[in-house]
Amino acid sequence: MREKRVYTFGNGKAEGKADMRNLLGGKGANLAEMNLIGVPVPPGFTITTDVCNEYFEKGKSDVVAILKEDVERSVKHIETLMNSKFGDSANPLLVSVRSGARASMPGMMDTILNLGLNDDVVVGLAKKTGNERFAYDSYRRFVQMYGDVVMGLKPVNKEDIDPFEEIIQQVKAQRGIKLDNEMTTEELKQLVSLFKKAIKERTGQDFPNNPMDQLWGAICSVFDSWMNDRAILYRKMEGIPSEWGTAVSVMAMVFGNMGNTSATGVCFSRDAATGENIFNGEYLVNAQGEDVVAGIRTPQQITKEGSLRWAKQQDINEDIRSSKYPSMEEAMPEIFGQLNALQEKLEKHYHDMQDMEFTVQEGKLWFLQTRNGKRTGPAMVKIAMDLLYEGQIDEKTALGRCEPNKLDELLHPVFDKTALKQAKVLTRGLPASPGAACGQIVFFADDAEKWHADGHQVIMVRIETSPEDLAGMSAAEGILTARGGMTSHAAVVARGMGKCCVSGAGAINVDYKVRSVEIDGVILKEGDYISLNGSTGEVYLGQVNTKPAEVTGDFAELMKLCDKYTRLVVRTNADTPHDAEVARNFGAVGIGLCRTEHMFFENEKIKAMREMILSDTLEGRKKALSKLLPYQKQDFYGILKAMDGFPVNIRLLDPPLHEFVPHDLKGQEEMAKEMGVSVQKIQQRVNSLSEHNPMLGHRGCRLGNTYPEITEMQTMAILSAAIQLKKEGFDPHPEIMVPLIGIVNEFDLQEKVIRETAANLFKEEGIELPFRVGTMIEIPRAALTADYIAKNAEYFSFGTNDLTQMTYGYSRDDIASFLPVYLDKKILNVDPFQVLDQKGVGELIKIAVEKGRKTRPNLTCGICGEHGGEPSSVKFCNRVGLNYVSCSPFRVPIARLAAAQGAIEG
Ligand code: PEP
Ligand code: MG
Repeated sequence: MREKRVYTFGNGKAEGKADMRNLLGGKGANLAEMNLIGVPVPPGFTITTDVCNEYFEKGKSDVVAILKEDVERSVKHIETLMNSKFGDSANPLLVSVRSGARASMPGMMDTILNLGLNDDVVVGLAKKTGNERFAYDSYRRFVQMYGDVVMGLKPVNKEDIDPFEEIIQQVKAQRGIKLDNEMTTEELKQLVSLFKKAIKERTGQDFPNNPMDQLWGAICSVFDSWMNDRAILYRKMEGIPSEWGTAVSVMAMVFGNMGNTSATGVCFSRDAATGENIFNGEYLVNAQGEDVVAGIRTPQQITKEGSLRWAKQQDINEDIRSSKYPSMEEAMPEIFGQLNALQEKLEKHYHDMQDMEFTVQEGKLWFLQTRNGKRTGPAMVKIAMDLLYEGQIDEKTALGRCEPNKLDELLHPVFDKTALKQAKVLTRGLPASPGAACGQIVFFADDAEKWHADGHQVIMVRIETSPEDLAGMSAAEGILTARGGMTSHAAVVARGMGKCCVSGAGAINVDYKVRSVEIDGVILKEGDYISLNGSTGEVYLGQVNTKPAEVTGDFAELMKLCDKYTRLVVRTNADTPHDAEVARNFGAVGIGLCRTEHMFFENEKIKAMREMILSDTLEGRKKALSKLLPYQKQDFYGILKAMDGFPVNIRLLDPPLHEFVPHDLKGQEEMAKEMGVSVQKIQQRVNSLSEHNPMLGHRGCRLGNTYPEITEMQTMAILSAAIQLKKEGFDPHPEIMVPLIGIVNEFDLQEKVIRETAANLFKEEGIELPFRVGTMIEIPRAALTADYIAKNAEYFSFGTNDLTQMTYGYSRDDIASFLPVYLDKKILNVDPFQVLDQKGVGELIKIAVEKGRKTRPNLTCGICGEHGGEPSSVKFCNRVGLNYVSCSPFRVPIARLAAAQGAIEG
């Protein structure tokens, strides 16, 4: 625990500085820094974030006692610089009390303005300013804010109106006026006493008259607000630890509501939505901070250019604009000049886009806050690259400025912002695959295909999806499921396709029979429109318009920059030539996982597959497989061609066979007819394939080891496709991967089948083609015995979906039932299927890499689980020496950026 708990600033001096944000919070550190670089800031002091932790450990009265001397000394410091006195009725000083955490948490915690007023002080303030109305307006605002934030007078039910607003409305109604600023001084006085009365009646407490008591109340309530629901939720969403705490900054008040030479506003050094280098913002003459955000009055633009653009959007003609809503540039040219110069100075100082708050008090400009501004994905890229071109930052800094996950916004269609504002949110699910989608509801994959073929845009709504739904998912604009986590089938496949998906939306009740879905009381039928926001998990009623995302030149330049610094390369998980092409355009240099099971579902293929499954004899299975061979060859030909010149890692059949047979009577009858057998025979086979835990059952290499003829066929298909390409002048690099091994023998036997098949084929074709055989490490035992496995395996690919499942013992399909509770109780901090568990699963990866490379020093290691596109996991992969990560096409740029950042961070 540091000794110094309070840091003062003012008049060009400060005890803190910008790099002390951990201790002083972003706001406190920047207030200090602004003083040091000559930006006018009202004097004040900051109580450290450490005190916030102390507050929650020791409690209110202890912390007040510990702080007393420091705070009193610091209040004197402000008094000296402001030449006024806190609580003095002749020459009063008022202060604001604000929160400020290490990371910016806009609007999450509390702020109190005009603190220090009471019935005596307000008289002094009126005299001092010669403006009685202003004094009482400040007083009623203070009582209102303090009564709400510190004393807790809030609406009882969420439907109730704010108790203070209710009183204001009553007073206005008595006089038949509408606007706050039409109230007389007498009415403002009346408000103050009515507010205090309501506080006493409803909370049982008197409003504190002593300014020092007021100050302690406010300081403690800022600390308390660190633990309010809003702040807790925000921290959860942004991954901010609760131990960081908030600082409290107390500053002399300056007033933007002292007449027409006073104003208050917010401004940005660049456009936070587009990233354009345009100074912009809003202000209000004769107003206090909250008026700008409260939306009671229409804020005006700061620059003339912005004002003209705004008027055009609002359809306001030039005469009205320039007379009623002039820009600050026009109305207060001198102040605007200062503001413009200072915003440039601040941006140059911090080398980043600044979001600033200011107040003008009787012609004098004060800055109340500056911080690096929040921005959209496209703005993030443009600002980073522009700052680089302008020479403000270097390449490594530009890369560090971009948040990998935010690149997503540049890749998927997005909702039109105005349309979204008006949309009704029906429910929320998991944001399984980002993007925006809008279409008519269908419940079945074949309907999705049909409707799509007829020119409809559809959203497929399912309880859950299975590989059988793939074609329907592909035809749909988006997918909504009631069940399933972030690595459920729907989520994984949708991300792979770059298709919007909301999964695990527990509040939806799908009734397949009547083809309807009930969402929170609203019943929607097949053909009704809904819209999905795959980035937030929100489900909207009706059609919300979308627009395609724009990929700008800056984005491409940023990606080039990644390649300059990265060590890890990025491959993609792709099962179709189209996905491979999309990923290649995003910079993928190979396929890290081609899941072959998705290739068995189209008409003829599924027939042959089912014939193989139904067959009791080796001969029968071989016959069916020989029908599949040409289809498989064609599929692999397409993929190898699309990734020409780069490695393509093809996984042998992995899912349990029951996924390929129909489970409903109608489907079974159709299958029986097609195969020329009885329905009972089909049902017997379907029953015999059923397993209690199919994920731990007859799947992966267990299939290949029981039916080596499947491995043979797939090897033939892969290598003969490659041979054909070679003959046509292409440069294929096939890799054949054995899934789900746990015992070295499982791999060795499969490898033998593959090598023998290859040798025969090469002999037949009279051509040798280099190819590699490797395995997936998905079972803890495989990781622990990697030194044995690497004897014959030429590469490892970590299947971290299954590895996570088996390390934790959590079913990847059923985790959604307890994950929310686990996150809530902090048993887990994140979903381990999304963010790699570096301590446990990561340790197994480390062991496997080390052991594997002991046996085979040049062993290639990669990752192909969903974590391969998650930034913190990618950085981990870089640290433990993997050669590549592989992820869905739409995550390739994200992984490239994370890989470059990982290399730079070291
Ligand atoms: C894995 O388990 O991580 C993997 C990539 O395989 P699948 O998700 O297909 O089981
Ligand atoms: Mg797997």
